[in-house]
Amino acid sequence: MQTIVVATGNAHKVAEYRELLKGQKVELNSLLDYPGFPGVEETGKTFRENASIKALAACRYCDAPAFADDSGLEVEALNGRPGIYSSRYAPTDPERIAKLLKELEGKENRRARFVCVIAIAINGEVIECFEGEVRGKIIDAPRGTNGFGYDPVFQPDGFDKTFAELTGDEKNAISHRAMAYRKAVEFIEDEMSCLDDDF
Ligand code: IMP
Repeated sequence: MQTIVVATGNAHKVAEYRELLKGQKVELNSLLDYPGFPGVEETGKTFRENASIKALAACRYCDAPAFADDSGLEVEALNGRPGIYSSRYAPTDPERIAKLLKELEGKENRRARFVCVIAIAINGEVIECFEGEVRGKIIDAPRGTNGFGYDPVFQPDGFDKTFAELTGDEKNAISHRAMAYRKAVEFIEDEMSCLDDDF
């Protein structure tokens, strides 16, 4: 079975991707399987640049096809912040949420979107990037215990529950990561069948 490496050490993300990959003839490894991976600095200015940097580094280090995502939360009233700095906005998830709610205090516009870009690297080259998004709003106080990150304060459009109140399957039906991921899988199936032997 072909191995593909997802360039993350985030166990929550690995679990989400494993769910999405159910039924595919692919074995998913992650950087948790390569403890010697030296890490890589996310020096890009966009989700796309950071995803590409991570995918390339994993592809080269693991000597296997690799993909990486870069994702984050863009909040309208904060001019798109925290954006690519979503994971560096504060030290822990609860602190990130508290800081976000503080910054939004008194602001009427609560519109926000999660964005995810997936970059695919094969043979030491980034061959394609795919973007997914989910739009919604930031609620006033956290609700729910599923998921991770900003999930407890993000309510997707068309739902009266936050991401953290949805099941894994429900989140995967609409999430930014699942959207980008589906586009990536479609591309691989449609365009890359010629690489079947080595992919
Ligand atoms: P990345 O690992 O560099 O892509 O960082 C993305 C950061 O954005 C995460 O650490 C979370 O803070 C936030 N984030 C991305 N996707 C999600 C999600 O599905 N739910 C909640 N927070 C997310």
